[in-house]
Amino acid sequence: TKWVYSFGDGKAEGSAEDRNLLGGKGANLAEMSNLGLPVPPGFTITTELCTWYYDNGRKYPDELSDQVDDALEQIGKLVGATFGDTANPLLVSVRSGARASMPGMMDTVLNLGLNDETVGAMAKLSGDERFAMDSYRRFIQMYSDVVLGVDHYHFEEILEVYKEENDYTLDTDLSADDWKEIIQHYKAAVERELEQPFPQDVKDQLWGAISAVFGSWRNDRANTYRRLHNIPESWGTAVNVQAMVFGNMGDTSATGVAFTRDPSTGVKEFYGEFLINAQGEDVVAGIRTPQNLTKASREAAGATAPSMEEAMPEVFGQLVDIYKKLEGHYRDMQDIEFTVQQGKLWMLQTRNGKRTAKAALKIACDMVDEGLISSEEAVKRVDPASLDQLLHPTLDPDAERNVIASGLPASPGAASGAVVFTAEHAVECMQEGKKVILVRIETSPEDIHGMHAAQGILTTRGGMTSHAAVVARGMGRPCVSGAGTIRVDYAAKTFTVGGVTISEGDIITIDGGNGQVMQGEVPTLQPELSGDFGKLMEWADKARRMKVRTNAETPADAETARKFGAEGIGLCRTEHMFFEAERIVAVREMILADEHDKSARKAALDKILPMQRQDFTDLFEIMSGLPVTIRLLDPPLHEFLPQSDEEMEEVAAASGVDAAKLKQRAHELHEFNPMLGHRGCRLGISYPEIYEMQARAIFEASIAAAEKTGSPVTPEIMIPLVAMKQELDTLKARIVAIAGDVEKETGKKLSYLVGTMIELPRAALQANNIAETAEFFSFGTNDLTQTTYGISRDDAAMFLKTYTEQGLIEQDPFVSLDPDGVGELVKIGAERGRSTRADIKLGICGEHGGDPASVAFCETVGLDYVSCSPYRVPIARLAAAQAAL
Ligand code: PEP
Ligand code: MG
Repeated sequence: TKWVYSFGDGKAEGSAEDRNLLGGKGANLAEMSNLGLPVPPGFTITTELCTWYYDNGRKYPDELSDQVDDALEQIGKLVGATFGDTANPLLVSVRSGARASMPGMMDTVLNLGLNDETVGAMAKLSGDERFAMDSYRRFIQMYSDVVLGVDHYHFEEILEVYKEENDYTLDTDLSADDWKEIIQHYKAAVERELEQPFPQDVKDQLWGAISAVFGSWRNDRANTYRRLHNIPESWGTAVNVQAMVFGNMGDTSATGVAFTRDPSTGVKEFYGEFLINAQGEDVVAGIRTPQNLTKASREAAGATAPSMEEAMPEVFGQLVDIYKKLEGHYRDMQDIEFTVQQGKLWMLQTRNGKRTAKAALKIACDMVDEGLISSEEAVKRVDPASLDQLLHPTLDPDAERNVIASGLPASPGAASGAVVFTAEHAVECMQEGKKVILVRIETSPEDIHGMHAAQGILTTRGGMTSHAAVVARGMGRPCVSGAGTIRVDYAAKTFTVGGVTISEGDIITIDGGNGQVMQGEVPTLQPELSGDFGKLMEWADKARRMKVRTNAETPADAETARKFGAEGIGLCRTEHMFFEAERIVAVREMILADEHDKSARKAALDKILPMQRQDFTDLFEIMSGLPVTIRLLDPPLHEFLPQSDEEMEEVAAASGVDAAKLKQRAHELHEFNPMLGHRGCRLGISYPEIYEMQARAIFEASIAAAEKTGSPVTPEIMIPLVAMKQELDTLKARIVAIAGDVEKETGKKLSYLVGTMIELPRAALQANNIAETAEFFSFGTNDLTQTTYGISRDDAAMFLKTYTEQGLIEQDPFVSLDPDGVGELVKIGAERGRSTRADIKLGICGEHGGDPASVAFCETVGLDYVSCSPYRVPIARLAAAQAAL
């Protein structure tokens, strides 16, 4: 088997096509080599090897070591150096690179190949002994930390003590001899911790680093990141070994990262940061505040440190040529990493850049205008779930703001919350339902669970490409980074800025769109839905086949949904209308009426009828001209029962029935398993007056609304929890009879449909029979998931979490439709329903209707529409388009 793929010197064994095999980084290094760009030569060990490694008890196949040796020799030939040579040593970097980018989650080792002898050669070759010693001590620290498991604080402490004893303040104060002494201390520390010396054999170093990178595929951070981003563990990571280039060889050297367009706004401007005389991760780590790339961005930021354009005009020009070439080649915004070694530019990475939803939209629309991509491609490029970021509120520009600090606008959106200083605390607060802002000096990959739990993130150090910024953008969390005037005191749990002290628990607001930090909570405004958003949605609407409706019962929700493009209501849960203060007493009266006392129940229902009629009239007016599906009463009666004595008295007073008798009745209604109990159409069978009242309210409202708007809706009356055709037959007959009554009373002709939810396995299996009566089906995948798995939708989250953590399932089936089991029943239901009623209207109204993967599934079954909560309507529109393309 071929496990190793080489690249460099204008050619490569792989290409961008080989992403699954070589990982994103490896595939793009190969591609850049093939394009003739200056890439330090190297090789990629495949992701297949990672799988082999774990399948074989963390061992390697026999043939691997020869393949690695050959590839190393080839690098050596290209750069004119030999790995481990004491006169002319080759140094390499060893980095991870998975199929999907996982920024900072896995391990990296730089400067590998240095030891007590090669460091001397490096000093001679570079003519800079201090540089060589500095590189060696960095290598010892990094390798010990990543590969040998000696925590980096050991080394930091040694350095701090040394600086104190010698009255040094900055690392740059140390001379070559100082570093030499520190190296001795570092090596002694390793020997003390591990009871064996720091490895001097460069081959041992290399295999140690390779194993560490493969091992890091399963470290805690990577596991968490994969879970959050649904990356399968089976993918594995590749390992990239590449000749080192040095950005820290003096003032003609530098290292940087750049985006071909602004990743925050999407504006077509070369955008990025660099550091002169710095190495590797210095920019990303946020340890030094980086300089701008272009003169324009430096001026806009009011920065004094020269931009790359000013400091290194020639190399900057080359970089500009390369980024244009890369963007044109990949036809997408690129995120690139480069190093300048003594005036020579080297490309270390390119990939499709992560971006905010706002930038994704703008870039997709601009690229269509530029003729780079088609509108269909633009639709495919925007992640539907990310639209969520755009649909959420921003700060009210007219509201008063008590701005206490300002940082970089690292990830857009506004958020308010109580200040917390640790990721753990953020998670605790989230579990208690509290909103928090995570405040850190800088974040590291260890903090991602806390960043996810927080409403927003504030850091005092680091640039737009710092860890905090990149991760927050990926998660859609607002973030302000590098707010340098803030002083955080972790021990005191406070931060101070300009004389103001903010303690843990105090409320602040951050605006990730402009970088402001405010004391207290600032009111917010609804988002703007025109511009690029409107354009992309229009393209999506052209591309999709399925309609998108909304689940709504209040006028406010219906209005929001219509604004977001809902094409009707797919589910109006009428029970939600029963809970309002002035109604609940009448509802309770109805429920608690004696089982055989029809007239008492009718009297209570007569009080509710006008209110229901008004509810439906409002909805029909808002949805004029569109279909509206109204589901008759569904939940178990006990949900409405009075709880306290006080509530019981209230019902007694309203109905004139003795409280003691009501209590007895409530007791009779108690159920052990209400979700499988007296609910849904079973209520309609035992108390037909309820459904008759609702049907009447619907019909009368449809006439009233049509008179007002002139554009009637077609009500679709939906019976819940049907398991057999006989249930539907009985109830449909009653509804048809009520329609006849209303037609007679009003002299108007009604147009309506009667259908059912398919939310029980028996209903799916019996769909052919049920469809003889039902004029439409709506798959209620919440209950269908509950009843197919036999797990309670109200309690399952507790144990499903363990299932996802242990990898038994990839996703909570209540969040993303299980295609194998629940999906199979949906498919059967659709097929059998169509077999007896070819033109039956099919939709879905479970929570899955707004989940992109589930929407894609619905397309494969050929449903007519999906229905979801109002804020997810745009997500569903885009997901439906992508599913159709
Ligand atoms: C369902 O069961 O999927 C459904 C939409 O109904 P509810 O969530 O109200 O039970
Ligand atoms: Mg249901």
